[in-house]
Amino acid sequence: MSRRFSSPSVLLAGGDGDLLTKAHALSNAIQKIQYPHVIEELGIRPQDLVHGNAHRAETILRNTVQWGLVKLNMESLGRDWSLRVSDTNVEEALVQYFPDSGVLEIQQRALDVFREVDMVVVAVHEILGHHAHETRVQRSDRTYYLSSRRNTQEGCAMRCENDLLVGALKRAGLEWKLFRVLRALEDIGHLSGWDLYPAGHRMPREYVKSYVRMYSGQAQHYVFVETDEYCPCLLSASP
Ligand SMILES: [Zn+2]
Repeated sequence: MSRRFSSPSVLLAGGDGDLLTKAHALSNAIQKIQYPHVIEELGIRPQDLVHGNAHRAETILRNTVQWGLVKLNMESLGRDWSLRVSDTNVEEALVQYFPDSGVLEIQQRALDVFREVDMVVVAVHEILGHHAHETRVQRSDRTYYLSSRRNTQEGCAMRCENDLLVGALKRAGLEWKLFRVLRALEDIGHLSGWDLYPAGHRMPREYVKSYVRMYSGQAQHYVFVETDEYCPCLLSASP
């Protein structure tokens, strides 16, 4: 299924020059930050691999959600979510969230290549972002919930990353931001950015290629972000 970017003017106004400038700035910022050996409040060793261990992955996801709820001054998510581990398949998203069922699906490949800190990013983006957002929308406006609003959905999840991936998580936040910029460059046919910025290689390249082929234009929603009133993450002044 191919969904076109809803505001092509934003895309054209930016262009690959802006994206390359962003990539360069992010790469420079990343090089100045070291990971701590351990992040105590989340109980993780950020750079250790998850080693394909779904139980370990789920523990990190659930610990991060509890930690994030406190940061966001939320008592609960208001709705359960569950983890489903799927087979490796490059024709599907490596990680995806299904709003109706509250299922977070993670491919086995992700469990093999992700570090512990990447699972924290997944929890922030998919659960504290998408799941909390969709639950709030679903409860107040069913029509809005069922409408296509890819821009504010991804914008909200990116806003949560911005707000919560700070301090000891700052480097991870920037690495994933750089990944999104590299994918947006790939989406507009600029294929040489990838090799320049290895710190942004948060997913295997073949998944990036497959994603931009299947969902043309969608990669831009992670770079030019918009949010709506239902987003739980509105702590910082700008998205
Ligand atoms: Zn998302």
